[in-house]
Amino acid sequence: MTVYSHSRLSAFEKCPLSYKYKYLDKIKPEVPFIGIEAYMGSAIHGSLEDLYKKQKRFPDEKVPLAQLLDKYETIWKEKRPPDIKIIKEGTTEEDYFIQGKLILTEYYQTHQPFSREETLSVEERIDINIEGFKVMGFIDRLALNKENGNLEIFDYKTSGTLPDAAFLQKDRQLSIYQMGVRKKYPQYADRNVEVIYDYLKFNKEFRFQKMEDEISAVKKDIVDLIQTIELASWENDFKPRVGKLCRWCEFSEICAAFEASVRTDA
Ligand code: SF4
Repeated sequence: MTVYSHSRLSAFEKCPLSYKYKYLDKIKPEVPFIGIEAYMGSAIHGSLEDLYKKQKRFPDEKVPLAQLLDKYETIWKEKRPPDIKIIKEGTTEEDYFIQGKLILTEYYQTHQPFSREETLSVEERIDINIEGFKVMGFIDRLALNKENGNLEIFDYKTSGTLPDAAFLQKDRQLSIYQMGVRKKYPQYADRNVEVIYDYLKFNKEFRFQKMEDEISAVKKDIVDLIQTIELASWENDFKPRVGKLCRWCEFSEICAAFEASVRTDA
């Protein structure tokens, strides 16, 4: 049985054809497409994961900023693929590397000494079942707020644009995580759950407590979307959605719809 995730569902929403290439045909481009923004984002995520793992293990020891930045540099160098795509004109890999360091530095200075919450887990997998469909996800960080006892679900974003708060209130990803946490942690059933979208480039957090009616609406949307995907699979009908995102699509070199659009523009 297919296990869906927020990113898998988003892939279909962005472009059904690229969804098919990636998840059904399992096409792997000869040269893997890795955009510099995503690469910087994964290096930042890896660094924060390391920071909070250390902080969880040794809550009384302070992790120095230099250690966090060293970790970032190590991840950047060790995991760097041979071909990183830089799409934005006038920018270099060094620009992004430095930007990542600045983001982490600002994060560290804002949140040190990291004692406001007790970290329960980092990169924890959750699984839920919605009307017979399996959905999973990985939570960046789950914590207990020491002041109010709330369970806090953190998601770290490295996007260059800030979304509308109203959009996030209805967002699917952290609603899935909230459902997963409720199921996995019955010992905290009496606690409020707060979801936190931390937009690191802007040093800005959005906090929400998602109510039952909002979670129910998200569940319904998920079921509708999965049924649409399964119908597309049944009919083998995955339409291309040509647009701005094609420039970041790992399948643009094999996509006839994109090629046709480039010819029309030329
Ligand atoms: S290039 Fe564009 S239209 Fe083609 S698969 Fe990718 S996102 Fe879809």
